[in-house]
Amino acid sequence: MIATLIPNCPLAMKAEVVRFIEQTGFRVQVAETGADTLVGVVGSPPLSLAEQLLALEGVADVQTAAPPYPMVSRAHHPQDSVVKIEGVNFGGPTVQVIAGPCSVESEDQILASARAAKAAGAALLRGGAFKPRTSPYSFQGLGRRGLELLAQARAETGLPVVTEVVAPEDVEMVSELADVLQIGARNMQNFRLLEAAGRQPKPVLLKRGMSATIDELLLAAEYVVSNGNPRLILCERGIRTYEKATRNTLDIGAVPLLKARTHLPVIVDPSHACGLRELVPALSLAAIAAGADGLIVEMHPEPERALSDGRQSLSPEGLADMMRALGPVAEAVGRRSPLGG
Ligand code: PEP
Ligand code: MN
Repeated sequence: MIATLIPNCPLAMKAEVVRFIEQTGFRVQVAETGADTLVGVVGSPPLSLAEQLLALEGVADVQTAAPPYPMVSRAHHPQDSVVKIEGVNFGGPTVQVIAGPCSVESEDQILASARAAKAAGAALLRGGAFKPRTSPYSFQGLGRRGLELLAQARAETGLPVVTEVVAPEDVEMVSELADVLQIGARNMQNFRLLEAAGRQPKPVLLKRGMSATIDELLLAAEYVVSNGNPRLILCERGIRTYEKATRNTLDIGAVPLLKARTHLPVIVDPSHACGLRELVPALSLAAIAAGADGLIVEMHPEPERALSDGRQSLSPEGLADMMRALGPVAEAVGRRSPLGG
């Protein structure tokens, strides 16, 4: 439920509306844009509350059919949220690119990746230290050692690092060593993990589950934000369909749909979406054309030797070429190139 207040509503009237709602036992979410104020009621209040609110001074209108995810919905918060990561803005005019290998494999590999990502103009480095692998016999990642290597790569290149956390008990450690906590597709509905990520201070990158609906993704996002962390970026990474020619099917329509439903930044992972490096540049351009705020792309210094996801990893040159191609598309849709200028 959302109450729209009269334009330039006096402070005392606003406070009275908030107090009234809180007295009924519901939490309140206030968004102000210029002269307009929206007061969102968090949760599922009875319809009778709408009538009571309409009777209050200062309330112009009450919407009862508001989305069930008030903290992340655009209905409650019309302006875009910009998530700032060590000086890099996601959700602002510039399209941002996160690049790096699927997994952190060794000191040489992650340092070479970081240098290549930086040289190509990527804003952040990715690399998994804890890998959620489908088979228990596949490479599981270097764990804490991988986080330390990422921190070393950041110290050398200055690129902030994004890495996945797979268990609530690891959140504190990953939060200490990384700049952004990734919650992967397989954990999108691990509610204890979402809550733990909401209670720590680093920004979160939440990937859409491979069978998750848009509403399920937004409700998962609500877990993170309602637990206290507003710095959240969403990621479309392909969904499972009957098509076997690609690893997943990139749901390109999810991008404008998410941008319409939420104020949070939305990025696309073309690598996991298709599983084939030769398709990654075209899907990246499509994502930016569709309104994505950025990309997270797999790149490996020697893709054919990668311990995970080599088939979908760009080479350093492939990444550099793709980065140059993004600029004109970004500008065509009113955004700025990831390479500046
Ligand atoms: C990854 O980013 O390496 C990964 C495992 O992604 P997803 O959770 O989207 O499968
Ligand atoms: Mn991967």
